[in-house]
Amino acid sequence: MPTAASTRATRAAMRWLGFAAVVVPLAILLVLQFRTLAELEQTSAAAHRLALKGYARTVLRSTESFYRQRADEALAVPPSFLDPANRAVLGARFAAAGGEGVKRFFIMSFDARPRRAFFAPDGKPVDAPKDAPEVRAARVAAAPWRLVAQDGTQVESTPLIVDEQDADNRIILRPIVDAASQVRGVAGLVVDAAYFRNHWLPTLMRAEMGLIPEPLREHVVVNVVPRPPGAAATTAGDDIEAPFRFVFTDSMLHVRSASPTPEQWARWSFLTNVALSLLLAALLLAAVLLALRSAARATTLSQMKSDFVSSVSHELRTPLASIRVFGEFLRLGRVNEPDKVREYGEYIETESRRLTHLVNNLLDFSKIESGQKRYQFERVDVAEIVAETLRTFDVRLKQEGFVVDVRRPPEPLQPVWVDPPAVGQVLTNLLDNAIKYSGDARHIDIELGQHNGFVTVAVSDQGPGIEIEEQERIFEKFYRVGNGLVHDAKGSGLGLAIVKHIAEAHRGRVVVDSLPGRGSTFTIELPTNAA
Ligand code: ADP
Repeated sequence: MPTAASTRATRAAMRWLGFAAVVVPLAILLVLQFRTLAELEQTSAAAHRLALKGYARTVLRSTESFYRQRADEALAVPPSFLDPANRAVLGARFAAAGGEGVKRFFIMSFDARPRRAFFAPDGKPVDAPKDAPEVRAARVAAAPWRLVAQDGTQVESTPLIVDEQDADNRIILRPIVDAASQVRGVAGLVVDAAYFRNHWLPTLMRAEMGLIPEPLREHVVVNVVPRPPGAAATTAGDDIEAPFRFVFTDSMLHVRSASPTPEQWARWSFLTNVALSLLLAALLLAAVLLALRSAARATTLSQMKSDFVSSVSHELRTPLASIRVFGEFLRLGRVNEPDKVREYGEYIETESRRLTHLVNNLLDFSKIESGQKRYQFERVDVAEIVAETLRTFDVRLKQEGFVVDVRRPPEPLQPVWVDPPAVGQVLTNLLDNAIKYSGDARHIDIELGQHNGFVTVAVSDQGPGIEIEEQERIFEKFYRVGNGLVHDAKGSGLGLAIVKHIAEAHRGRVVVDSLPGRGSTFTIELPTNAA
């Protein structure tokens, strides 16, 4: 059959097992997470840099396709449109292709007159004085094609040509070629540089910001800077520089993450994640420890309670059995000698006092626990309570062969302000313990004293004493040293808990002074004034 000690050991082992079942997976999880986060730190920095590059590429590509598409649609003009009679239809065609981002559309004929016509973005014809900057830029851009036309050189394809000599009037044009592959004129458009700077780029840059990961987004700085001759797309340090293609080829997009850089941000997020994981793990451990602790407490308490029930039943059964046996003897008239009758009577008295004492303790305890214990204070001489309590122990002390010495100071004791039955109960418990835990010794001292507004009663025995580490716990309810394994004396484990409660309810206290093998002294201090 398993003993109480082995059951306790098994429970403790189970608790440790439960603890290990949480801690080991947690530790493995933390190590794995640490490694994953470290890898993530590396890749996320690279990914962020890639995202910045992707952003720059998208802005450039969208810009190119915007202008290319516009020009493609508007400038694919057949030679018939060179005829001035068709100007209105041509204007409508330009307008249909869309004038957004365009300052002017134009057409130039190398043989018919009038030679050129300019159109507003909405397709309406506009004046084109010879010295207007856009007219000059268009003429310069068309000049090589005029030469080609005059030469009569055959042209196979009609690519889009960009001329950016005048930065405010960038020209995109396409030669108009007839069925015989002869260049007959050009159709073109003048790019609206102000629209590009003030509307197109800012809108596009904002719209594509979604390509940059959240934490970097608000720190990204994007600029358009002049492109040094011959510069290609580069990544210089933390910055990305990429030149525009097709139009605005003299400018570059400059993207950089001011602070944090992708690396700084990756480090920061690594550290935050590690810290968070550690914090969570610590919280989890604390919670598990707390749960295990309260489980241990609950187990101990339930163990104590079941010990208590068995002790109390035993405490009740022994005196009841004695009373019954001695009562039967007396009833049957088996005992005739007066000395024997007195002796049996004394046994019955002692045993019933023991019962009363036990029942009083149980009742007191239940009142204390439910908060119903009430005290009626009065001014009394504590020596009287001591003498009265001792009288109730007369027979038991005599039976068990105890000698009790009561010492008091030479000066008169101050009266105390107490509930006399409660203090009687305290003394009864202390004396009962002194008798129970005296071992072979048969001497008990009761010493009265007073100091600083307190009267003290110290009950000393010469028994086995109490280990230092047990001295605090013996005042807990149900607590018995070694749960009865250290000593044979029976008890409920409530006596000292009641003593402590009553002493404190009187604004006094109880202290223990004991050394193993040197006996124990329990002292209660009771106040002399009513305040
Ligand atoms: P009980 O005596 O019913 O077990 P108590 O609350 O009165 O309960 O005492 C608690 C424990 O303190 C006892 O079980 C005993 O181990 C220890 N104890 C109390 N008084 C003494 C004493 N005078 N000498 C040695 N041990 C004592």
